[in-house]
Amino acid sequence: METVRPDLLRIELGYVNAFLWVGDGGPTLIDTGSPWSFTKLLDELKAAGVQPADLQRIIITHADIDHIGGLKGLTEVTDTPIACHTVEAAFITGQRHKPLPGLTSHVLAGGLRILQAIYHPYVTNVDELLLEKEKTPEGFMVLHMPGHAPGQIALYHKGAGLLLAADALDHRHGRLALPPKWFTPDREQAVESLGKLKKLSFQTACFGHGPCIREQADVQIHAFIETLS
Ligand SMILES: [Zn+2]
Repeated sequence: METVRPDLLRIELGYVNAFLWVGDGGPTLIDTGSPWSFTKLLDELKAAGVQPADLQRIIITHADIDHIGGLKGLTEVTDTPIACHTVEAAFITGQRHKPLPGLTSHVLAGGLRILQAIYHPYVTNVDELLLEKEKTPEGFMVLHMPGHAPGQIALYHKGAGLLLAADALDHRHGRLALPPKWFTPDREQAVESLGKLKKLSFQTACFGHGPCIREQADVQIHAFIETLS
């Protein structure tokens, strides 16, 4: 677990991150890792001094199995409300499945379908449906960032100078990139969504995958977005 800022902890769950916001309105868990890292998620929460029942809210950035994997387990130990973008709710409850980018015969895409069938990570209900520009009790502004997932959100905290980019940007190995093409049904839309970040200032940025950027993250991200046009 990494203290990114006094109010934000990064919980590394294999190759994917979850975040624990312990500032205003928290503790709030943002994403839940994979089903197979659920025990580690619980251990890390405990190490942070947070019991599942203490969580004020669980915000899901998008319904990929490596982000919602701990959700069903959490619903068995706490009634904490689950929040996500209104478009993503049907994917979190398993009523809809994420479209894959015309490459469904690809081994990775096929593997994803199999994992979803085995783990069936869906929950029966989402409690709070978030909309573009909505402000959460934690002080985050919701940014709808479709492309990688139809209802993906990023979270921007102006006061903290913080962006939680989810998988709108990939930062594996400390290198900025678009999310992986095998799992991104609409890359054009993914690029378009990034345009929303151009006018925002933030010192720190964190991602679904890879380390956070702690200094002048906006400068680096704006420069990366420029390379896409
Ligand atoms: Zn991801």
